[in-house]
Parts: sequence; structure tokens; C-alpha cells
Amino acid sequence: MASYVESYYRDTRRITLNGTAPLAGQRKVDVAIVGGGVTGCSAALHLAERGYDVVLLEAERIGWGASGRSGGQILTGFGTELGVLAKSLGCEGAGRAWEMSREAVRLTADLVQRHEISCDLKWGVIEAALKPRHLSAFRSTIQEMRESYSYEGYQWLDREALYERVRSRAYLGGIYDPYSGHLHPLNYTLGLARAAQMAGATIYEDSAVQKLDSGRPARLTTSGGAIEADFVVLAGNAYLGGDVAPQLRGKLMPVGNYIIATEPLSEDQVAQTLPCDDAVSDANFVLDYFHLSADRRMLYGGHVSYGRKAPRRLRQRMVGKLEKLFPALAGIDIDYQWGGLVGVTFNRAPHFGRLGDNVYFSQGYSGHGMALAGLSGKLMAEAIAGQAERFDLYTRLSHRNFPGGDRLRTPLLVLATNFYRMRDLL
Ligand SMILES: Cc1cc2nc3c(=O)[nH]c(=O)nc-3n(C[C@H](O)[C@H](O)[C@H](O)COP(=O)(O)OP(=O)(O)OC[C@H]3O[C@@H](n4cnc5c(N)ncnc54)[C@H](O)[C@@H]3O)c2cc1C
Repeated sequence: MASYVESYYRDTRRITLNGTAPLAGQRKVDVAIVGGGVTGCSAALHLAERGYDVVLLEAERIGWGASGRSGGQILTGFGTELGVLAKSLGCEGAGRAWEMSREAVRLTADLVQRHEISCDLKWGVIEAALKPRHLSAFRSTIQEMRESYSYEGYQWLDREALYERVRSRAYLGGIYDPYSGHLHPLNYTLGLARAAQMAGATIYEDSAVQKLDSGRPARLTTSGGAIEADFVVLAGNAYLGGDVAPQLRGKLMPVGNYIIATEPLSEDQVAQTLPCDDAVSDANFVLDYFHLSADRRMLYGGHVSYGRKAPRRLRQRMVGKLEKLFPALAGIDIDYQWGGLVGVTFNRAPHFGRLGDNVYFSQGYSGHGMALAGLSGKLMAEAIAGQAERFDLYTRLSHRNFPGGDRLRTPLLVLATNFYRMRDLL
């Protein structure tokens, strides 16, 4: 039986699923879902609630991918600016996509409440400026959101107001978003899976799909059996690999991202770091993000890598940055370190679509998927049930392949990221 990556989340897992043995034999269903992260579990739940006969096939365990490893920030918006979405959708379409990103956050809260998922959901996220140019960009964002999208939710924090909430002198100011939040991502994902099971979906873990034969029905093969399905949902995201759907490979770059978890902080250390329990990220291209866990550990994320190998001296580098940010944490013990793959698209807008007319996919939330993945599962359920307008808004976003083909796309992306990393230093 596959097990979870060693992480703080694995050791604080509160939800256990029953009846998730690997697929053995043949089955015919309405919908087969590939992947048991937030996208797949949400799709399973919403389809089962609509009365479809649903199976979900997970290669490892539910939440084993990015969903069970993430920073847990539940964010409005996207991994890119709305202007990028407006290029494909126009201003009105980008506005609708933005409203749906707000719906994604509300949906998360609703699912947590409705299915009694114990996952420490809290509200309040800050985006913090490290450079004067970040401050100007924030001012423009707040103004643009007011004027073009009638959104008044972002609150400006000047340097002192920010310092009241985030006790680091590194930041010059920021945006406070009371409508975004943070949660324990593995417990949230497992809670969705449990709700899907209760609604009637069947979950098979340790059941990697090796082959997808399209057609009606489509046929999915694992080492233990096969499923015939009228519809397929591909929810493998950065972990899907190239064999199941080679058509999707060029549009998505799996990028490694890493988190450390400190020992629990004392009251005094909490007061000297995050007294208001917000989640924070900075405005760099390769950004750092952090918040406190329910037992008051600092979960601090950042650093990227291309390929599955962690960067050299990762822990020392991350601890060095953390201690510089919060001198009160000098010498603190690090109890956990882990990483996972983020699915990033070239323009950092999410990638939704169909292969043929009965295979649906959504991927590439570009670091912004914890809320959006939940909504995408719901939108795919709507589309399969015949109401595709909302899903199709996102399918209108145009996406290009990463340049360089299979051999050169990773080195080219490393070059590009190094350029932005250098810019972050200026
Ligand atoms: C370290 C890290 C920090 C992050 N922080 C944040 C954050 O703070 N906020 C935010 O919004 N986003 C964050 N993200 C991104 C976020 O986690 C993802 O966008 C989101 O979880 C994607 O969910 P998913 O269900 O689409 O994919 P995943 O959760 O990756 O699930 C895909 C699943 O598919 C399975 N699978 C793949 N191929 C097959 C196959 N052939 N057969 C069967 N199963 C298969 C995998 O095993 C995996 O479990 C972070 C990601 C990482 C790695």
C-alpha cells in the first residue's frame, strides 16, 4: 500500500477512509475520474450528488499529490493577473472568471461546513511587498479591481499596519484579503473524498491508470483491472505524466515547491511573528509563503526546482530566510521538510478543456489551485450533466506549449526563472 510523503500533514491526519482497495476486475460506470486530489475528489462528490455512478482511481493515496502537501492557502484570483485572462475572455469574461474565483473560496468554506471536515479553516491572507515596485503594483491592483471589476474587498496595509499583523521589518506594506484563508490541505482533501464516498462514489487507491482508450465508452486500464465509462475526468494535474494523455504534456510544467514546519512556537514567538494568524505570501516571482498551523508551528514555503530533485542545502537556505524574516525564531528546530509538484502553465492561467467530447480535464492552476480545484470539479460535474457554460468560460482561455519540446523545455524554464529570480533581488 502506498503511503504519504513524510510531512507535518501526514502526521496530523484526522480523517481515515475505508473501502479504498485497489481496483480488481472489470466495471462499467457513468464517470471515471483519474486522480484523487481536490480536483478529482470534488468532481466525484458533485457527480455522485447528481446521481451519477462514479469511480475515482488514485495511483497512490487520496491527497498524495499537491493537494495533500500544499501551503493550504485558499485564495481568490489566479496564478496570474486578470489582464492575462482578459486577453482571451475580454474584460467582461475576465470579470466573470474573477467572480467564479470568489465563488471557489466560498464553495471551499461551504464544503468544509456541510461535510463537517475538520481542517482548521481560518480567514485572512496578506500579500506583502518587499520592494517599492511591489507597492506600486499593489496600488494599481487595488485601483484596477475597484474600477474595472467593482471589487472593494482588498484592504491596503501601510508599513505600520502590516507590522501589526506580520512582525517582520522586511515588508514595506501589503494587501489584506479578508475573504481568502488557509487550512490543513490533506484533511480537507480527505474530507472531500469521504463526502464523495458517502454520496455513493467508489474510490480505488493504489490504482494507477496506465492507459486511456478514448471512445464511447472510454476504457481505462490499471494493473488490476479496467473501467468502461461514458465520461472521463482527468484530474492528475502535475502528477499525470505523459502516457495517459500525451496531448496535455506540453502545456504543463511540473515545478517542485518546498515547505518546512518548525517545532510549535511559544506564545511569545507567536506574538513576535503572526499574532493575527494570517497567511502571508510575498510579491516576488519565486515567492515565499507562510502561516501558523493549528498547533502553532510556522509552515514556511518557497524555493522551486525543475524535476523531482530538491535544491541543494534546501533546509539551511529556507531556515536562513525564515530567521532573517523573523529574528525571534533564531535557532528554532525544524521538525518537517517536504515538497510537491505544482502544475504551472505558460501564462499561469488555469487550463480546462476536453479531449474528444467525453474526456474532461482541468489542471495548471499555477500555485492557486486549493480553492479553484474544488470549483473545477463542480464545473466539470455541471458540464457532464449538460450545463457547460461555466466550464466553457475557462476552456476559452488560450494556452501555448512551453517552448523547447520534451528535451529543452525544462532547461529553458530554468533560464527564464533564473532571470526572474535575479529581478527579485533588485
Ligand atoms: C508545496 C506546494 C504548495 C502549494 N501551496 C498552495 C497554496 O498555498 N495555495 C494554493 O492555492 N495552491 C497551492 N499549491 C497548488 C495546489 O496544491 C494545487 O493546485 C492543487 O492541489 C491541485 O489539485 P489537483 O487535484 O488538481 O492535483 P493533485 O492534488 O496533484 O492530485 C493529482 C492526483 O492524481 C494522481 N494521479 C496522477 N496520475 C494518475 C494516474 N495515471 N492514475 C491515477 N491517479 C493518478 C496523483 O497521484 C495525485 O494524487 C501548492 C502546491 C505545492 C506542491
